[in-house]
Amino acid sequence: MPKKALITGVSGQDGAYLAGFLLNKGYKVVGAERQNASGSLWRLRELKIEDQVEIIPFELLEDNNINSVVKNGKFDEIYNLAAQSFVANSYNSPVFTSNVNALGVTRILEAIRHFSPQTRFYQASTSEMYGNVKSKRQNEQTSFQPVSPYAISKLYSHWIVNMYRDAYNLYCCAGILFNHESPLRGKEFVTKKIISDLAKVKYRKLSKLKLGNIYSKRDWGFALDYVEAMWLMLQQKKPDDFVISSGKTYTVKTFVDKAAKNFGFDLRWKGNYLQEKAIDINTGKVIVAIDKKFFRPTEVNYLYGDSNKAKKILKWSPKTNLNELIKKMCDYEISKY
Ligand code: NDP
Ligand code: GDP
Repeated sequence: MPKKALITGVSGQDGAYLAGFLLNKGYKVVGAERQNASGSLWRLRELKIEDQVEIIPFELLEDNNINSVVKNGKFDEIYNLAAQSFVANSYNSPVFTSNVNALGVTRILEAIRHFSPQTRFYQASTSEMYGNVKSKRQNEQTSFQPVSPYAISKLYSHWIVNMYRDAYNLYCCAGILFNHESPLRGKEFVTKKIISDLAKVKYRKLSKLKLGNIYSKRDWGFALDYVEAMWLMLQQKKPDDFVISSGKTYTVKTFVDKAAKNFGFDLRWKGNYLQEKAIDINTGKVIVAIDKKFFRPTEVNYLYGDSNKAKKILKWSPKTNLNELIKKMCDYEISKY
């Protein structure tokens, strides 16, 4: 019998890659899509797996819906990737974000506890939980200091997963994943926005790319590498939590410089703070400007992961470096013109 997995958030970046990954492993994959969703499974189409995933309606705000999905599905594994996942939006909808990201996870855990305690559960925790961190590298021992409604909601779900593991002996794991990107990343996130807007500038559909804080540092990896780590966490003897990261950190500004080269721009930066600009030295044109509206009320300035535990126990390491990731994303973007 093939293993059966449920992926919540199957229409998202990680959901699509994980679906493809599990299908390759011979799983029967059921994808949970919310009923009032964007209605778009374009990522599954891009990966040419739309016909191989059974789609069922699923809503993290609906207890009854979750109970019946978990009860009737008899899943070997559930990967909870569904979330209000954009930090900037969480300031405008903190209550909704908490309900989906925090209470939604409690709803699934309660359903597993009562109706399917043998099901293994993966929760998508996040490096955003480290927030205002002071330590040079962040691992499973680093304390959390979340600074956004998103991060706080994810910290709740992280702890409730730990609590259900201890209290009810459930096999549940939280992967503390650092930022991971891909050609299928949502346009609101900074890497995809940079690449998509630089492509528009190159093909004269946009005059310039506008960004907020370009001095924050992120540890960016490739989403396809990271979904393998999710699966590995559910194949161990004992459930546990793991940091998954690339082990390198760069500023948003460095990401812009690297991406710009793929479009033939050679950028020189001038000015400070809101007046800072990047000019293409070949044409003298301003390619990047700063716009106050993209700054956040509170910021995570620095993330730099240490995934040695995953390396040792899961035998997992990232395969794709930042230059390779940027090239994949730029090539995909250019192929759309
Ligand atoms: P996406 O934003 O691409 O996908 C989120 C998914 O959640 C979408 O399928 C969305 O559906 C679904 N969803 C949102 N609200 C609900 C709801 N109320 N009920 C059911 N489904 C819902 O995120 P990613 O794929 O990038 O990330 C996957 C998970 O990993 C998320 O939980 C995210 O917070 C977490 N994470 C991501 C990181 C990253 O760098 N990508 C880093 C660390 C953690 P719809 O298509 O309808 O909007
Ligand atoms: P996050 O780490 O989950 O918040 O991922 P994002 O890709 O949304 O943001 C990464 C970093 O880029 C954060 O420090 C943002 O403040 C910064 N950033 C700067 N300009 C922008 C922008 O225009 N959009 C987004 N999304 N982030 C920006």
